[in-house]
Amino acid sequence: MARVSDLLAAGRTYSFEFFPPKTDGAQLSLGHTIAELEPLAPSFVSVTYGAGGSTRSRTHAIVSWVRRETSITPMAHLTCQGHTRAEVAEILDDYRAEGIENVLALGGDPPDDPGDHRPSDYRYASDLLEDIGAADFSIGVAAHPEVHPRSPDRATDRRLLAAKLSRADFAITQFFFEAEHYVRLVEELAALGVDKPVLPGIMPITNATQVARMASLSGAAIPGWLVDRLDGVDDPVEVRRIGVDVASALSAELLELGAPGLHLYTLNRSTASREIYANLGLGSVSGGAGGA
Ligand code: FAD
Repeated sequence: MARVSDLLAAGRTYSFEFFPPKTDGAQLSLGHTIAELEPLAPSFVSVTYGAGGSTRSRTHAIVSWVRRETSITPMAHLTCQGHTRAEVAEILDDYRAEGIENVLALGGDPPDDPGDHRPSDYRYASDLLEDIGAADFSIGVAAHPEVHPRSPDRATDRRLLAAKLSRADFAITQFFFEAEHYVRLVEELAALGVDKPVLPGIMPITNATQVARMASLSGAAIPGWLVDRLDGVDDPVEVRRIGVDVASALSAELLELGAPGLHLYTLNRSTASREIYANLGLGSVSGGAGGA
């Protein structure tokens, strides 16, 4: 196992993100996906965490399974809203005991229904950093190239991100579709004296409706040229082909521009990620059950 900060210091990292499935069937399918991606020797994989602790045990189970049963380094996401300090200490203790060394510290989103609100000792991701740092994890944080939807303005977003990154080891970005958003983010951080690695998050479009919904929630714009390319395309295989094509071109451009690696949002499927890897010349492996 390894610390992501050490991996980044040694060279580029290539990583995959999964979410904890809700059903036994989906869990089995994720197992197939991870088995199909493992031969690509990713630098690490990360597992998301349901805001307010809704996936606490499922996230933990997958991170632990990856640690025990595969050769891949895992990273656990942890959102702070809806948690007390005692709960976070317990979660971190459990991870340490199992040899998990990497945590992505996140704010999470407040619940849509105020009735779901739980008492919280934390409000922002930055509030979590001290507790995670004291527990000696390699720490990542989230960055939003097109500015976080709740930020009052771009300068405030960057100032708070720079402060957050000064206490973390690296950032991973929300997905975006044009390299200029990433370049501008890195330049703005550099102007604030931040030179920590910022890993671009890459989302291959495999389902146009789903990605449009996620983009509107996260503040990412779907550019007109991409809307045009997907316009009238109903065949899911063709949508995926376009999505992989676009993600591969963006990834190649980002690497050319000096990005310290790539973080692929897999949506728990392996095919698109394997195709992007092959297109970039990073390695190839055949597979089947992991789907789109
Ligand atoms: P924060 O850093 O807390 O920022 C949230 C907002 O508050 C921003 O507008 C920021 O500018 C502002 N802010 C920060 N600090 C302060 C301060 N001190 N005073 C005033 N304003 C402040 N969500 C999940 O629920 N689970 C996941 O597993 C998950 N994984 C993610 C992985 C990545 C790589 C990314 C990019 C996002 C992920 N998200 C996840 C989504 C994320 O939780 C949301 O985008 C959330 O709204 C913000 O998270 P953050 O960590 O950027 O929050």
